[in-house]
Amino acid sequence: MTTNDESARTARKGPSGTSSRSERTCAGCGKHAAADELVRVVHDPSSGEVAVDLASSGFGRGAHFHPSPDCVAKALKGGLARVFKSKVVGDASAIGEAIVKAADRRIEGLLTGARRAGQLAVGADVVAEALREERAKLVVVARDAAAATRLPEIERAIASGQAVALGDKQRLGSLMSGRGEVAVIAVLHPGVAAAVSQTYRMSGPFRSAASVVAPPGGAGTESQDVRSEEAWSSSEVR
Ligand SMILES: [Zn+2]
Repeated sequence: MTTNDESARTARKGPSGTSSRSERTCAGCGKHAAADELVRVVHDPSSGEVAVDLASSGFGRGAHFHPSPDCVAKALKGGLARVFKSKVVGDASAIGEAIVKAADRRIEGLLTGARRAGQLAVGADVVAEALREERAKLVVVARDAAAATRLPEIERAIASGQAVALGDKQRLGSLMSGRGEVAVIAVLHPGVAAAVSQTYRMSGPFRSAASVVAPPGGAGTESQDVRSEEAWSSSEVR
C-alpha cells in the first residue's frame, strides 16, 4: 500500500524486506507506534474537519493518533494542523463519536461480508457449538443480550477477551438479513475476526464505559466500571 502520509517516514521494512508493521507518529503525544495501533484521519481542506479512516484506505494525506481521548485532545492542539499544514476544526468529543460510528460501520460491513461468505454462526446455540468446536474466532454480542452471555461457552469467550459488544438484538438481526432479533454471532474466519477486534479496539476508549465488553474482574480495560459488569449479568430473557 502506498500512502503519502507525513508520518510514514518512520515506516520500517521487516528483516525479510517484505511486508512490515510500519510505524507512524501519534500527532498527539508524538510517540511512534505500529500503524495498526493508531487511528488514521484524513483532512477536508474546505471544511477544515477531519474524517476517520479506520480501514486505512490510504486516500489523501493521513494523520494518526493513539485511540485515546488524551491523544486526540493533544493532536487537536497543534499536531494535526502540523501534519495537514492547515487549520483543523473540531473537538475531541466529536472526533471520539466519529471514531465509534466509523468503527461500528466498519464492523457491520465486515460482518455482512462474513455472512455472505458463510463465515458466521448466528444465534446463541449455534455460537456455543462453534465455540465448543473451536471454530469461532470471535463472538459479537448484542448489548441488550445479557442472557446469552450466561451460557458457559459465551461466558468463557467474554472472559478471555474473545468477545465484543455491538448494537442491540434488533440491529444484529437486521444485519443478518432481517432474521428478527439476534443476540449473538460468532465470526469463524480468522482474518475477519482479527479485523473486527482491531477495529473494536480502536473505538473502545471512546465508547461509554457501560458499553465496553469487559470480563468480570478482568484486566486490560481501563474504562471498565461497575456498570459494565452489571450489564453482563443482569437477568434478561434471551
Ligand atoms: Zn499518542
